[in-house]
Order: sequence, then C-alpha cells, then structure tokens
Amino acid sequence: AVTFFWLRRDLRLEDNVGLFQALQSDFPVVPLFIFDDAILDSLPSDDARVGFIHDSLAKINTELQEIGSSLLIKKGKTAAVWQEIINEYDVKEVFYNKDYEPYAIARDTAIRELLETKNTIVNSCKDQVIFEALEITKADGLPYTVYTPYKNKWLEKYNSNAPVTEFDCAAHFSSFYKSSFEFLSLTQIGFVESTIKVKPHNLTKIANYHETRDFPAIDSTSYLSPHLRFGTVSVRKLVNWAAKKNAVFLSELIWREFFMQILYNFPKVMTHNFKPAYDGIEWRNNEEEFKRWCTGTTGYPMVDAGMRQLNETGYMHNRVRMVVASFLCKHLLIQWQWGEAYFAEKLLDYELSANVGNWQWAAGTGCDAAPYFRVFNPEIQLKKFDEKGIYIRQWIPEFDLGYGQPMVEHAMARDRAIATYKAGILK
Ligand code: FAD
Repeated sequence: AVTFFWLRRDLRLEDNVGLFQALQSDFPVVPLFIFDDAILDSLPSDDARVGFIHDSLAKINTELQEIGSSLLIKKGKTAAVWQEIINEYDVKEVFYNKDYEPYAIARDTAIRELLETKNTIVNSCKDQVIFEALEITKADGLPYTVYTPYKNKWLEKYNSNAPVTEFDCAAHFSSFYKSSFEFLSLTQIGFVESTIKVKPHNLTKIANYHETRDFPAIDSTSYLSPHLRFGTVSVRKLVNWAAKKNAVFLSELIWREFFMQILYNFPKVMTHNFKPAYDGIEWRNNEEEFKRWCTGTTGYPMVDAGMRQLNETGYMHNRVRMVVASFLCKHLLIQWQWGEAYFAEKLLDYELSANVGNWQWAAGTGCDAAPYFRVFNPEIQLKKFDEKGIYIRQWIPEFDLGYGQPMVEHAMARDRAIATYKAGILK
C-alpha cells in the first residue's frame, strides 16, 4: 500500500503543504509528475516552459535519489495515467496542492471521482497562495473587485497571524517510497531544449524596489514570476520575507492573489470583459497592424523594445508590458484577447489570472481597471522611465533619435481611442 503525492505547479520539496501532509500519512509516499497531453499537445516542441519544468523535476529527482527514492514521471492524458497507476499500485491516499484555474479544477474533479471509485482518499491542500478563493471577502461575503480594499483586508488578516507557518518537509523525508524510477528525458516526452532559459530569481535588490521597479534599464525586479508560476519557490517563505523587507514589493505579491481570486470567482474573465458595458466597443482588429506590434516594428521605440525583449527572452519588464498593452488596445484598437493570447504563447511567466487581469486592466475592461480615457503616450513613457534610452538600445541596436516612423500618430490615435470607447460604452 502506498500514498501518492502529485506534483503539478509546486515543483519543490521545500515548504510544500501537500507534500508535508502526504509524508505524515500511514504509507510510503510515491512522488508523481504527469506531463499532461491536454496541455502539451498545443505547444511547440521547443517550448521553454516545458524545458524549465523538466529541469526543475531533474533537481527534485536528484534530491530524492540522495535519500534512496525517485520521481515517477508519466506522460499522457491525466485520467488514463491515473487509471494505469491505480491498476498497478494499491493507492490508499493521494495528496496534491490546489490549482484554481478552470481547466485544473475540472481535471482535478474528474481525477478525484476516478480515485474515489477505488476508495482512495483524496486530499487537496492550499499551497499556491496565502489566502485562496473566498478567504478574503467583503463584509457581505462577496469577493472584492477593487484592489485597495482587498489588499487592506489581506494585510489585516496576514498581520493578525504573521508570519504564516512554513512546513519542514525534510524532517519527514524518510517516509518517501524507496524506488529508482527511470527519469524520462525531454526527448522522451517529445520536446527539445529551447535557447530561451528562465533566469534565476534575484532578491538582492528588493530594498530599493519602490524607487527602482518602474525603470526597465535598472535590473531591480525579482524575476520571481516563472518561479511562482511553477512553484519552484514557496509563496509563504517569500511573503514572510517580503513583509519584513519592502511593503511595495509585498503589495505586488498581493496583486497576484487579487487576480487569482478574480479568476476563481469570475471565470468568464478568461475570455470576456469583466465589465459588460465595454462589450459594444468596435475594435479595428487589423491583422497587419497586429503583426507589426508582435514583431516590434511599430516605430515607437518603447513598444518595439518591449516586444523584442519578449520575443527574444520570454520576459518583458512590467512597465513596458503596460505600455505595449495600452498601445495595442488603445492606439491600434485591437481587442485585448489578441494581445493576451500572444503573451500567453511567449511569456515564461505566463499565468492565466495575472495575464487576463493585467490585459483587462490596460484595456479598461477589467475590474479596477485604468479608465478608458487614460491613453499612455509611448514617447512620454520613454522620457519618464528610460530617459537615456539604455533599455531601448539593449533591444533595438539600430536605435537613434530618428528611429523609425511611428505607424500611427499619437494625438490622432488618442482621440480615436477615446471616441471609439465612448461610443461603445454608450451603446
Ligand atoms: P516583480 O516586480 O519583482 O514582482 C514580484 C512578483 O509579484 C511577480 O513575480 C508577480 O508574481 C507579482 N506581480 C508583480 N506585478 C504583478 C501584477 N501586475 N499582477 C499580478 N502579479 C504581479 N505576471 C505574471 O506572473 N504572469 C503573466 O502572465 C503576466 N502578464 C502580464 C500582462 C500584462 C499586460 C501586464 C501589464 C502585466 C503582466 N504580469 C504578469 C505582471 C507583471 O508584469 C509580472 O509579474 C512581472 O513583470 C514579473 O517580473 P518580476 O517577477 O521581476 O516582478
């Protein structure tokens, strides 16, 4: 008889709630990861995120080998893989950490039902966030849709019990199942190495985060996003640390949870405007213009540098993400869903909740979004945040003062955006 611990987007053995609980069960624990065909089938064979997952699993496997255990890796449709596992093992209990995305919720419900037909006890744990789903609500029990009161309530709850508990999994490592499973290579799961790699995170510059985070030429943000996405860091450790170091940085981690609870409570935001009043906007949706945005050839240096950084590295600085997103929705009047899908394909830190939340923020269609008449001027943004053009030159080597011809004139585009939004909202 065995217990299974199913790793998904929590790729670490340290401070992992589901793993910690699994290791206290009455049976040896088999750690499992499934490369899910339902997700992998739509990705290119050199997808850098799959490579990062594989590298992270290799690290975990090495740690497990040191204690006489190993990671069981499977590839296939999750239901078929689980069926195979319950045929092969006497699985008494299964533990996993909750994932709040609609696809994951449906998958986990189906697997739970399958396992329960065999009387396996299924335990799902909160690990990915400090406060999940409906833990932070308004007095009437409804979810917050505005960030600042959400953040205040979040902080109040956190501070009333700070620091949150971290879990010492290593103390129970002797409960792992002794094994030497074959570690599938990237090729065996049908993928190849990408030239793009996830950077290690860097928390050394966070002390001045509130002053430097908006300047893309200053390397001062944490690069935590892909690590939070795949759980190679623990959010509890991070939040306990951030609460002592920098309030502005902590508030960014709260934005992450804000958008996660928005997606959980309002799953329609994945594809639809949070504010239905914006459904009547007549987008121009010009394909040629979209291509110029994607390839970083709009003639606006800050937009082009951002898109080239994204295409070459799978990352873009937050300030620049805001500029390119506003440019697409407002200057070009292309609906946010197109930009969201492009980011989803390219970003190493692609996170459905944050991507949709921030795109809808930029488009003005989201909860607590930028007002529709706020149209970023990409030239002024450049002057404010990269005055010396240091960031721009990194991504546009040919940049000089006479760079390119803007594909659309700012004043005209601004007036056109405001008029189109106004007409759409009043419809
Ligand atoms: P830091 O500034 O060091 O922030 C630390 C962490 O806080 C981040 O790793 C992230 O987890 C969280 N965070 C910071 N800003 C935000 C925010 N605005 N919303 C939610 N969480 C935040 N972030 C993603 O993780 N995945 C996405 O798919 C994503 N898409 C975005 C799309 C647009 C149009 C915009 C404007 C922003 C998007 N962001 C997304 C948010 C933000 O740009 C990135 O989290 C940040 O740039 C990642 O770099 P960092 O880890 O160095 O950030």
